Amino acid sequence: MAAKSLESEHPIKAYGYAAHDTTGTFSPSYNDHHLIYRVTGEKDVRFKVLYCGVCHSDLHYAKNEWGVTTYPVIPGHEIVGVVTEVGSKVEKFKVGDKVGVGCLVGSCRSCESCSSDCEQFCPTQTLTYGVPNIDGTQAYGGYSDHMISDEHFVLRWPENLPLDSGAPLLCAGITTYSPLRYFGLDKPGMKVGVVGLGGLGHVAVKMAKAFGADVTVFSTTAAKKQEAIEGLKADHFINSRDEEEMKAAASTLDGIIDTVSGNHPIVPLLGALKPNGKLVLLGAPEKPVELAAFALILGRKIVAGSAIGGLKETQEMLDFSAKHGITADIELIPIDYVNTAMDRLLKSDVRYRFVIDVANSLKAE
Ligand code: NAP
Ligand code: ZN
Ligand code: ZN
Repeated sequence: MAAKSLESEHPIKAYGYAAHDTTGTFSPSYNDHHLIYRVTGEKDVRFKVLYCGVCHSDLHYAKNEWGVTTYPVIPGHEIVGVVTEVGSKVEKFKVGDKVGVGCLVGSCRSCESCSSDCEQFCPTQTLTYGVPNIDGTQAYGGYSDHMISDEHFVLRWPENLPLDSGAPLLCAGITTYSPLRYFGLDKPGMKVGVVGLGGLGHVAVKMAKAFGADVTVFSTTAAKKQEAIEGLKADHFINSRDEEEMKAAASTLDGIIDTVSGNHPIVPLLGALKPNGKLVLLGAPEKPVELAAFALILGRKIVAGSAIGGLKETQEMLDFSAKHGITADIELIPIDYVNTAMDRLLKSDVRYRFVIDVANSLKAE
């Protein structure tokens, strides 16, 4: 008997926008092939995608800047949707519920990280896109018409949180909330720096302000000063390429959240930390960062990293954001604008997150 094809075993088709090579150019996937999704399992939640944020990681990934991409890739991990089908053993959700999915759709659920609600560090985690699912099908992200995930990785959407401007919280929100909490920068009066005023950075400013911190923005774009101070309520703004301004900021901060996507010097940032201060790297530039030992030794400083957050903490962050009125500042775009959006993202030309209006602009042919 002939072996069953993946297509006959997994007959549910999806449509989306895919990148096929390192140019990172997106085209509608239904022009060349259908994506195959698994049938709904006992613990699975299937949902129609309404909105999906455009994270700089999608851009790194589409262009294979981290050397791990498998093509075709359909990115998107800031996904908000409405449930269309649930498996027989799903407990938390029913058809019609508003839900969110971030960067993870699977993990082992039993290792030390999973047991301590840190699924983001599970060695056998399944990222939302770009990697094979447990059943061998490819995982695709939110630049597509529907998604499927085990209910453990699906977030309850708070009543009063907007769906479109809330979507970026699923990556930009948790990625900045988690280190502010973990590194103790969530106390009133803490002096917190935020480097890079993009998608992550502008949400970091809002989160830090909600915790009561005194916030300094470090940016390479002078035109963002007024927006940072008046719009985002940051307390100080420093042009990080201006040596005099950097000198004036020396030894002033308890912690810095670095969200920069491109290669940039970190030693001057370490100079802005007080003794015992922490620089937390969130951005993932293509090249390794350069670090001089003396920049740490003189002041017992720490350079750390942080990746998104666990599912429990992500739910907590969504509820916190709903309570404090935190959303992203967004530019809502149709999905056929995504190539232009990526070009603009590369030039730091977005205020401050593109969100794709998936349900209203992606039409299956
Ligand atoms: P984004 O919207 O493009 O923002 C990045 C900002 O960094 C830009 O707006 C710009 O801000 C600054 N910047 C860019 N290139 C620079 C350079 N060469 N030198 C100095 N500053 C530069 O990107 P994003 O979506 O916020 O993502 C930021 C980074 O975080 C990406 O590398 C992404 O992959 C990574 N990320 C990590 C995690 C995690 O879990 N750790 C999660 C999500 C994203 P100014 O104009 O203000 O200078
Ligand atoms: Zn992201
Ligand atoms: Zn695990």
